[in-house]
Amino acid sequence: MSSMLHPISRRSFLAGSAAAGALVVLHPFSVRAQANQAHLRIMETTDLHVHVFPYDYYADKPNDTMGVARTASIIDAIGAEATNSILVDNGDFLQGNPMGDYMAYQRGLKDGDVHPIIKAMNTLGYDCSTLGNHEFNYGLDYMFKVLSGADFPFVCANLTKGQLAGDATKDELFLKPYVILDKTVKDGTGAEHPIRVGLIGFVPPQVMTWDSKHLNGKAMTRDIVKTAQAWVPQMREEGADIVVALSHSGMGTPEYGENLENASILLAGVDGIDAIVTGHSHLDFPGPKFDGMAGVDNAKGTINGKPGVMGGFWGSHLGLIDLMLERDGNAWRVVSSTSEARPIFKREDRKVVPIVESKAAVEEAVREEHEATLAYVRTPVGKTSAPLYSYFALVADDPSVQIVSQAQIWYIKDMLKDTEHKDLPVLSAAAPFKSGGRGGPDYYTDVPAGDVAIKNVADLYLYPNTVQAVAITGAQVKEWLEMSAGIFKQVEPRKADQELINADFPSYNFDVVDGVTYRIDLSQPPKYDPKGAVLNAGSNRITELMFDGKPIDPAAKFVVATNNYRAGGGGNFPEINGSKVIFEAPDTNRDVIVRYIVEQGTINPSADSNWSFAPVEGASVIFETGPRAKEHIAEVKAVKIEAAGDGAEGFAKYRITL
Ligand code: MN
Ligand code: MG
Repeated sequence: MSSMLHPISRRSFLAGSAAAGALVVLHPFSVRAQANQAHLRIMETTDLHVHVFPYDYYADKPNDTMGVARTASIIDAIGAEATNSILVDNGDFLQGNPMGDYMAYQRGLKDGDVHPIIKAMNTLGYDCSTLGNHEFNYGLDYMFKVLSGADFPFVCANLTKGQLAGDATKDELFLKPYVILDKTVKDGTGAEHPIRVGLIGFVPPQVMTWDSKHLNGKAMTRDIVKTAQAWVPQMREEGADIVVALSHSGMGTPEYGENLENASILLAGVDGIDAIVTGHSHLDFPGPKFDGMAGVDNAKGTINGKPGVMGGFWGSHLGLIDLMLERDGNAWRVVSSTSEARPIFKREDRKVVPIVESKAAVEEAVREEHEATLAYVRTPVGKTSAPLYSYFALVADDPSVQIVSQAQIWYIKDMLKDTEHKDLPVLSAAAPFKSGGRGGPDYYTDVPAGDVAIKNVADLYLYPNTVQAVAITGAQVKEWLEMSAGIFKQVEPRKADQELINADFPSYNFDVVDGVTYRIDLSQPPKYDPKGAVLNAGSNRITELMFDGKPIDPAAKFVVATNNYRAGGGGNFPEINGSKVIFEAPDTNRDVIVRYIVEQGTINPSADSNWSFAPVEGASVIFETGPRAKEHIAEVKAVKIEAAGDGAEGFAKYRITL
């Protein structure tokens, strides 16, 4: 098998002449290489998630932090900095933005159709790719149709058909576990030598849970490290000079555990692996997030002592591993290395500044699908039987929060159905994101009843958080709500028009918990301050907290669906600090809402009024919201609201009689 068919290999031959035309700074290894020494650069994209154009389809506007069209434009120049280079992708290319959903849900792939992300990748001359967990999101049949359009091979060593064999090398696999590419490298004198580059791929074993509905009964996964220990010696026996692991897995820890999701540190430790490209965590390595982490050397760019890299996400970076190779008889070995994650943008004064332009050929290849995706995000994917708005989200149960909780509960119940937690009640915590404040009087969700478009979902869920679930007690549910209730000022009886909202408390920390019912007694002082410190230990603002129509049992266990921010300790909610997490989804809350709407067809987000203010005798409060709130005032059942004139800067004032 000759590598000359691949454009990237041709480029490695032409690197010298490409360099002649432009200002290219050669990597020191290419400058320094002597006879029988060769510089090999491994270039990595990872977690592209269908981002071809620098465009955020949810927000429906350009975004300079993303797009493999941008990354592509630096691949040529970056490849030219090295005498020899290969290009790999590390998986999660197929799902994660509306273009992916458009192709899978709306358009489908007819025989011979090539998926747009594959079209883009085919223009770049990849040598190989592995699978990420998100490749399975639309089912195996669809995935294999997509893969068939690629002009580069896919490897995955730990995804099996059916049961695991006694020995990993006897597993029946869907894809080749590895490839060994016959390449030619130029040494420091320009002399060409053959080299055999082995590439082996791994996916997180957790796909069996995350995509059980697509994989149950059809596939199994094997532990990443054990799989590598079985196959890598065989790659060496087959004559691989160097072995590169394509690890769609985060760093993890140096301590072994069975079936770890994030196993790259342990994988790098497997004998015979020379270098490791990683991903899945959407970070850049080497990079500041990895300072001081056990098992990695952020300065040297090594993972468990081996050259390693993680190339960001959505095309934000090109990951680079530079290997100085030396000929040792007929074989090559790595004598030194550097690593780098090269970005496509920089931040100046908190503004994003692009470093590179898009590569026209990549955008042209996918222009038609891009236009179709724009139309898709602007056209209905489902219907809502009630309007979705957030004007009253801080004072009453609200449809914009209700829909998020409905989708989260729907998703988490499905994810936990085959786990030890399957019998626990599932509650959901969600907070209003767009609720005026510094965003101004128009900064509210406002989608009329009727059609719902994808871009409306961004309006419901602004942040690319991922879904997580925690298991906590009834008592902890109450403390969660006590923390939320800190957004309200204390209210005195028999006093009119008191200010309600503490402006120092961010609305995204006002979690409403669905699946229980409760009242908030504003005559009590807040128990917690906005940072989570106890202000009034004896205060109980949350009253009549009921589950299933009965007072909640403080000792009973509940699952609460939330996001990675809250579950990991964001907002300093009492005891919610990462230690209660029982499920970390690979899916964003936004994707889950889209899937929920697509699957349900028509959603009914009418608030169920599961929470309300307790009466405070003779008291009324004033709050501000957007002026368009007046169209929905009659729909709010849980509180008595009336207009109270104009507020500052375009806001409208409303009065609630408690
Ligand atoms: Mn990913
Ligand atoms: Mg509700």
